[in-house]
This record gives sequence, structure tokens and C-alpha cells, in this order.
Amino acid sequence: METHVSPELQAVYDEVAKCGKCGFCQAVCPIFDITKDEGSVARGHNLHIRKLIEGELTLNAELKDPLFECLLCMTCVSNCFPAVRTHENVVQGRAEYIKRVGRPKTLQFLFNNLLPDPKKMAHFMRMGAYGKKLGVSKLASTLGVLKWFGSNLDKAEAIVEKLPTRFFRDRASKLNLTPEHRTVKIGYFVGCGFNFVMPQVSEATTQLLVHLGAEVNITENCCCGLPAYTYGDLEAARKMARKNIAIIEKTDADFIVTECATCASFLKHYTELFKDDPEMAQRSERAAGRIRGFSEFIHSRLPLPAPRNTESLTVTYHDPCHQCRYQGIVKEPRAILKQIPDIEYTEMPQADLCCGAAGSYNVMRYDQSMKILDRKMTSLEKTGAQILTTECPSCCIQLSYGVRRAGLATRVMHISELMRTIYMSDK
Ligand code: SF4
Ligand code: SF4
Repeated sequence: METHVSPELQAVYDEVAKCGKCGFCQAVCPIFDITKDEGSVARGHNLHIRKLIEGELTLNAELKDPLFECLLCMTCVSNCFPAVRTHENVVQGRAEYIKRVGRPKTLQFLFNNLLPDPKKMAHFMRMGAYGKKLGVSKLASTLGVLKWFGSNLDKAEAIVEKLPTRFFRDRASKLNLTPEHRTVKIGYFVGCGFNFVMPQVSEATTQLLVHLGAEVNITENCCCGLPAYTYGDLEAARKMARKNIAIIEKTDADFIVTECATCASFLKHYTELFKDDPEMAQRSERAAGRIRGFSEFIHSRLPLPAPRNTESLTVTYHDPCHQCRYQGIVKEPRAILKQIPDIEYTEMPQADLCCGAAGSYNVMRYDQSMKILDRKMTSLEKTGAQILTTECPSCCIQLSYGVRRAGLATRVMHISELMRTIYMSDK
């Protein structure tokens, strides 16, 4: 076929051509629900990309907007008869866009300098934490690093309530990571979100794992690379993936565990980054076989010992997109929660509906994200739960913001935080 697009975009032609234009995706897409715009739904994305490849469309701003509007939540894929992999097609469309137009310098710096280097990232995040006390938007404009966040930065600043100045990696040397009776050796993959924004979650996870008999070794990993991937910067994502695969290979552990559902999902899918590199594809496959998400790992070790504290609690669970649809993990967190004495588990309507965080989507497209979040809060309110648990830092931050905005009394906790409170704290 005569075409003016890159071979990488041409490679998704058969996938986009699988779309039978039935329109079932309209009923489930959180973005279409708000915009009612055919360009924002899976059918529209696949048609745009098909026409681009066929040379009937050119990649202009009109096509860019819907491409970057997608949450990559995979809800359409789960409800599509031929299971068209729209989320991957959209990422290829974004990659094509940045190949032609380039990325803002701030993003190049983020993807190539900060995210691959945890020490540089820590320095930057520390400045961000001090700056938050002055107001993030002031700091952002001073540094010029966050300009890409979009026009609603002032409103978006409130999403993250506070930023710590000491991160998990700073605190880790003071933790006991060796159990009394070792039953398993794990490498703990430190996700950026928990390390830099919610270090108390990493602390809860590692301490609980040790309590359950795991020797925990903290890996010297960098960012998993997903932020670069979702923006379409596949080369930057590959560089981070290569680094992390080499680290995983050197880690002498039975499993690599992370409580970040998004990191776990991307680490398991590194193979897709190396379709043209058989050696790296094989190494990614081997590394993926050792990755476990938090509830996936804990579920394999049920039944758990008796908890130290028993307190009657009503608990519900929000499924992160990268856990339920990208990894198919749904029953595991529920089975864990249901086996804890005195927890009354209550299922939230549409528990797997995207919360609207989608990485930095809530900052870049604040108003749309809030409409999605409001729907989530309506569902949460119906449960009357005291605790809302989940397993992704973006979801934790977004849901906590939703609860504050809606004035609900529910507390948002990572499932490992809740479990540490129940299994380890003395009253
Ligand atoms: S549900 Fe699938 S096949 Fe049907 S229009 Fe949407 S993407 Fe195409
Ligand atoms: S991935 Fe999610 S936001 Fe994107 S088109 Fe599919 S359902 Fe809509």
C-alpha cells in the first residue's frame, strides 16, 4: 500500500481494520459518555488511524486532540467483539504524532533525564515538594518543567494534597527487611508514585511482606517507563525497560513484587516494546514471568495468619484499569479482603470504571477528568463504605481528591496500608 506514515503505524493496519463499526464501544467509553463525540470513541480512533495509513487523512491538530484525549482504560477492548486493541493503536497514533511534530522540551527532559534516573528524579521531586508549600503553579512556571500540564494547573494543583520531602528510598535503610522465618525472597520494585508521593504505602507494603515471611530486597529500578509510553515516546520507554530488565535479571529473588498495579502491568507487557528485537523480547518475557502485583502475590499465600487487630470495618475496592483489564486481576483483592475477620466487604457499582486519573490525564484535562471522578464518587457513596481500597498511586491520589471534593467520610487506602493496620499495629 502506498502510504506516507511510518512502518510502525502501518504495522497496526490489520488491527484497526478489524473494527466492524458496530458502535458497541460508545456505550462503555468514559470519554464518549462526556463528549458524545464520535472522534473520542474507539470506533473513531480506529477509523482515523486507518484513514491516516490509507493516506486519506493528515495528522493535524484536529486528529491530535482526540488521540490524546483517550484514557487508555481498555474498557472498549473488553466490550468489543473482535477485541480491537484500540489502546495500543492510539499509542501508535501518538507516537506518529510526536515523530512528526516532536515533543515539548520539558517532556524530553522528563522522559530522557529525570524518569530514568531515580536520584535526579528525587532532586526534582524534592524541589517540587518545597515548592508546593509556595504553590505548585508558581514553582512550575519558575522551573518551566510543568508547562505541558495544561491550562488548568491552578485547579489541578489541589489534586495532590501534599508532597513529602523524604521519599521511601530515603527511609528504607531504617526498615527491617529480614523476617524471622524466611519463606520467600522477593525483590521490591519501587514505583515512582509511591516512592515520591506516598512513601507510607511503600513502607506498609514492605513491612507487611516481611511480617508474612518474605525477605525483601529493594531493587535499584528506575521508572517503569509507562509515562513515556502513553505519551507515544516509545524510544524513551524502551530505554527505561532495558534498564529495568537488566536490574531484574541481576536480582536474586523468587519474585519481583510491586504494589503499583500500573508498574506491574507495564513490566509484564515489556515484550510488546521489543517486537523487532527477538533477544530483548525473550529477556522481557523471562522477566515478566517473575513479576507479581501486590494482591496477586498475597493471594497466592492465603490463608494469612490471624490479624493482631480486629475492628469492624466496611470496605470496598476500586479496580485500577491496569490491574483488572490489563492483567485480568479481579478476584484476588476481593478474596483477600473477604478473608479478613470483621471486614464487611461491599461491592461498589461499576468498581472497574476508570476514576479519570489515567496517569497525568487529570492534570492535563482537569474538567473532563472531574466529570468521570464525580461518577465514581456517586458509586462510592452508594456503598456507605468506611474504607475505599485500591492498588495504584494515581487512583489513590485521584480518589482521595474525589472524596475531599464530595465531602465524603470514606478513607482511601492502598490495600497494603489497610492490611498493615490490621495485621501489624498493636492497639
Ligand atoms: S466495539 Fe469494537 S468493533 Fe465495534 S465499533 Fe467499537 S472498536 Fe469497532
Ligand atoms: S481506551 Fe477507554 S477512553 Fe480510550 S477509547 Fe477505549 S474506552 Fe474510550
